[in-house]
Amino acid sequence: MAIDLRSDTVTSPTAAMRQAMANAAVGDDVYEEDPTVKELERLGARLTGKESGLFVSSGTMGNLVAVLTHCQSGQEIYLDKESHIYFYEAGGMSALGGFIPRLVDSGSDLYNPVALEAAWRPENIHFPTPGLLCLENTHNRSGGKVIGVDRMKEAALWARNKGLPVHLDGARIFNAAYAMNLEVKELTTEVDTAMFCLSKGLGAPVGSLLVGSEEWIAKARKWRKMVGGGLRQVGVLAAAGLVALEQREQLLEDHKLAKLLAKGLTNIKGISVDLSAVDTNIFMADLEDERQDAYKFAASLAEAGLLANAVTSSRMRFVTHYDVNEEQIDEAINIAEKVISTI
Ligand SMILES: *Cc1c(COP(=O)(O)O)cnc(C)c1O
Repeated sequence: MAIDLRSDTVTSPTAAMRQAMANAAVGDDVYEEDPTVKELERLGARLTGKESGLFVSSGTMGNLVAVLTHCQSGQEIYLDKESHIYFYEAGGMSALGGFIPRLVDSGSDLYNPVALEAAWRPENIHFPTPGLLCLENTHNRSGGKVIGVDRMKEAALWARNKGLPVHLDGARIFNAAYAMNLEVKELTTEVDTAMFCLSKGLGAPVGSLLVGSEEWIAKARKWRKMVGGGLRQVGVLAAAGLVALEQREQLLEDHKLAKLLAKGLTNIKGISVDLSAVDTNIFMADLEDERQDAYKFAASLAEAGLLANAVTSSRMRFVTHYDVNEEQIDEAINIAEKVISTI
């Protein structure tokens, strides 16, 4: 079996998850009668310090339902130019919501207020009406980078002063919290709403949660129905999500393995990793020789039994998760060392 470091979405449900799924108490969730999903939604809300939660099929659906609930068609949404919502969600916010992305370029100093202000367009009859600020923590395309509490506060304050609500794409907010030794709540108090994924490092097979005020979640529930996300005996999925949240300390192990792998890779001639940027379970590794191509490297690694994604022609992304162990990380380093000299 290949060592799969393409994403933390590749994990298989644990025995405990399958057991919980088999035994889950269920009901029709469109009638709000599924006790297991209700329990999961309550837990998600409690952990993030919000009033209410809503189970959604995926992170993409969660973010889509969030922007639909916050904004009116034709409004402008402020988001980082490298954000997942802009890059990897198939343009849903524009195609399905009619929203205009207003891209913020904050470089590596993510969401700094100067960059937010530079993107701001004051009221003018020619411009779309601003509707929302979206933040992302951890930041996927920056290699799982964490945004600290102070920056979350500054960005949220900026939005509040502009009269904008704030949505957090917190697909990996638990990774962020563990990396900084914080409670998740400390990272979510400043935002109005958040989405987090149960199916990334937390390891559930399916599902994400949206959290926010009771009133907002009631509206989101209707939007979820509209996009086809009203599910029935969804307790079978929520049960796995509950186990995923119970075992969430596993993320610390993922972070440890990512650091180990990053160190091993950067010691290989031809590969460099900025170790100071390895915050969580995702990191980027660069090929130093510009004649070498990362897509080719990825293909050769795959042949040798190591799966990882190239993100540009000189850059690879590696992601750790609970289905890899320390031995496999050592093996991954050996494979990379052997393969790099052959491409
Ligand atoms: C994975 C991811 C999503 C989307 O989640 P899916 O469940 O894959 O749809 C959203 N935001 C970020 C930052 C992600 O990494």
